Amino acid sequence: MLTDPGLLRETLLHELLHTCPGCRDHGDRWKSYAALVNGRMGTNIQRTVKVEGEFTPLRREEVKYVLRCQSCGREITRMRMCKVVRAPWRYRCLCGGKLKRVQ
Ligand SMILES: [Zn+2]
Ligand SMILES: [Zn+2]
Repeated sequence: MLTDPGLLRETLLHELLHTCPGCRDHGDRWKSYAALVNGRMGTNIQRTVKVEGEFTPLRREEVKYVLRCQSCGREITRMRMCKVVRAPWRYRCLCGGKLKRVQ
C-alpha cells in the first residue's frame, strides 16, 4: 500500500514513461524523459535504487518488516516503515537481486 503521495506520483510517472515509444526499459530515452519530467515538475523519478547499508540484523523482537533478496536470500530488516518497505520494487539488493517483502 502506497501512502506517500510524492512516492505514488513518482511511481506512476515512472510507469507512464515506460509507455512512451522506445521506453520499455531504462535506456537513454527513458532516462532523458525522466530527467525532463523531474526538471519540469520537481519530482525525483529514478530507476531502481540499491539498498545501501543497514543490512545488519536487528534484534528479533525489534524487527517489524523483513525483505528478502530473491537472488542471494539476504534478509533486510527494518524496525519501522520506510521507503524500501513501502516500495521494494524500486530497490535492489547489493547483489542486484530483486527484493520481496516477506513480513
Ligand atoms: Zn521502470
Ligand atoms: Zn542479493
